[in-house]
Amino acid sequence: MVDQYPPDFPKTQLEFEDRFSTEEACRSYLMSLRWPHGFRCPNCGHTHGWVNNRNLIECSGCHHQASLTAGTILEGTRKPLRMWFIAMWWVCTQKTGGSAVGLKRILGLGSYKTAWTWLHKIRTAMIRAGREKLSNKVQIDDAFIGGEESGVSGRESFKKARIVVAVEIKETGRGLGRIRMRHIPDFSASSLLPFVMDFVEPGSVVQTDGWRGYSSLEEKGFQHIIIRASSSPETPLPHVNRVISLLKRWLLGTHQGRVSQKHLQHYLDEFVFRHNRRKSKHVGLLFQRILKQSSESTPSPYKKIVELASGLN
Ligand SMILES: [Zn+2]
Repeated sequence: MVDQYPPDFPKTQLEFEDRFSTEEACRSYLMSLRWPHGFRCPNCGHTHGWVNNRNLIECSGCHHQASLTAGTILEGTRKPLRMWFIAMWWVCTQKTGGSAVGLKRILGLGSYKTAWTWLHKIRTAMIRAGREKLSNKVQIDDAFIGGEESGVSGRESFKKARIVVAVEIKETGRGLGRIRMRHIPDFSASSLLPFVMDFVEPGSVVQTDGWRGYSSLEEKGFQHIIIRASSSPETPLPHVNRVISLLKRWLLGTHQGRVSQKHLQHYLDEFVFRHNRRKSKHVGLLFQRILKQSSESTPSPYKKIVELASGLN
């Protein structure tokens, strides 16, 4: 994955702390991410301005005030930017991600709900990162996420959440490439095919099991290879199944299984973001990426996040 931003990011905890110790420092960094080629007044096009302590940039030409955070997930926050920077840095430096309980503790936030909302806002910034399609050879499978139910099996279960997962297989045949995941309402072709078309480059080799939901992949322009369970003990789609079990372990571990269907997609986005950047040399690059995306995303107040996420149920 190419990170196109300038290599101007903190590389260590110490660098992070030194660099972002004031609101002013946070503001000017955010400004440089939002206007990488320098500030440009949206009103008159002038290129000089200063930021005041309300996060407003005043154009020195026409005195138009542009907001540094308007239209971003940081819009309307009453907390210092510094706290957001710390939250984002913390999320990036936790190898397995952070929980709302953890964030509440380190920031001294007043409530669990606030910490939870912050994490969800940060997750919405992760979604936008890396929308390039997977290519070459891709393995796809669907799965259930959630509590065990007795008496129902396989695709007949109704209460668990359904997801579909794609993983690129590296040239060597070993090791996992980039991944994508989506929470879907059912395992029908009308849920599975749009996922493949959204996330996999046409012409790629796509491996799935024999489920009929995948049967028209050839018509959609993919080289479809159906891998059926054989007598060998190995699962027919080992790569994608490895990703699914890592996801399940993460949901049970970091989040102790307390993820509702309503919000599942946000967690999937975080998992994908982390997985696709797990070999990133610098945690600071992840931090910078999230911050950059934050400075571009639309605002996601608590209510909107809940509304958005409830669309799937
Ligand atoms: Zn101006």
